Amino acid sequence: MSLLVVGSVALDSVETPSAARTDVLGGSASFFSVVSSLLGPGVRLVAVVGEDFPEEHVALFRERGVDLAGLERVAGRTFRWSGRYLPDLVGRETLDTQLNVFETFRPKLPESYTDSSYVFLANIDPGLQLQVLSQIRKPRLVACDTMNFWITGQLEALRRVLRSTDVLFVNDEEVRQLSGRHNLVHAAAAVRELGPRKLVVKRGDAGALLFDEAGIFWAPAFPVETIIDPTGAGDSFAGGFMSYLAHVDDLGPAAFRRAMIYGAAIASFCVEDFSLDRFRSLQRDEVLRRCHAFRDLTRFEEVTL
Ligand code: AMP
Repeated sequence: MSLLVVGSVALDSVETPSAARTDVLGGSASFFSVVSSLLGPGVRLVAVVGEDFPEEHVALFRERGVDLAGLERVAGRTFRWSGRYLPDLVGRETLDTQLNVFETFRPKLPESYTDSSYVFLANIDPGLQLQVLSQIRKPRLVACDTMNFWITGQLEALRRVLRSTDVLFVNDEEVRQLSGRHNLVHAAAAVRELGPRKLVVKRGDAGALLFDEAGIFWAPAFPVETIIDPTGAGDSFAGGFMSYLAHVDDLGPAAFRRAMIYGAAIASFCVEDFSLDRFRSLQRDEVLRRCHAFRDLTRFEEVTL
C-alpha cells in the first residue's frame, strides 16, 4: 500500500554527555522514510532541502528506494536543528531551530503522489501539513506528529490538522500542553475529542501508550545496553508503526497493537547510534527478533491468589 510522508529533512547538531556531532543527517521525514523502506521501497517523501544538502544523504534515500519525486532542492540553507541531552539521555533541550528553506516552502505534490493511501504528516509547520493533506484525494489513514514549538506558535492551524487526523503521535508533555490536563488518561480523552480517534503518547524510556476505542495499550521501550543518541526515536517509532500498517493493510484493533510493538522495536535500534547510522545496516530479521523479544519481556502467566 502506498505510504507518503511530509516532514523535515534536516542537518542536526547533537550534544550528548559523551560526544557531539555537527550537521549530521536528521529531520522527521528522514528517519521516517528510511525506517519505512525496510518493509518495502517506494515511500513517497515530500520535503525541501537547500543547496548545502550533501549528495551522500540523497544517495542513502535513493539506495533505500525512497521515492524522491517530492523532494525539492532550492536555493538557500537546509533546515537546521540543534539539541543537547541531559545526563539521563532522555531529557533534551533544543538549542536552536532554523527553518531556512522551510520558511518559503509551498509543497506541490507530484501527480503520482495524490492517490496515497497511508499518510504521515511528520513534525513540521501545521500549515504545510494542511497544504499536503489538501492535495491527497482519498487517504485510508492519516497520522500526524507535532511538538511544543508548533503547539505554542501555530495552534489554530494545528487544530485544523487534528480535525482531519486519525492517529496523533505526541509525547506526554505535548499531550498535557494540548489538553491543559495533567493526568494522562484525562489528557488523552480531551485530545481525542479534537479529532484523532487514536492517540499514541510517546514516553521515552517508559515506552508508548495507545489510546483508542479498544482501550489502552502499552508498548514498553526495549531495554537496550547502549544508548548513544535518542534523536529521531519518535519519528522512527512512527515510521515503524505506519509502515507496518501499510504493509499488512489492516486497520483492525489487533493490527494497531502489533504496529505499536513493531514501532517500539524500530525505535530501540535508532538510539544505538548517532543520526540514522544504525539504520544503514539494520535488517528485517533483526527487527523481527526484537519483536519476539518484546513478547517474552511482557508475557506472564495469569496471577491467581
Ligand atoms: P525526535 O527525536 O523523534 O523528536 O526527532 C528529532 C528530529 O526532529 C530531529 O532530527 C530534528 O531535525 C527534527 N526537528 C526538531 N525540531 C523540529 C521542528 N520544529 N520542525 C520539524 N522538525 C524538527
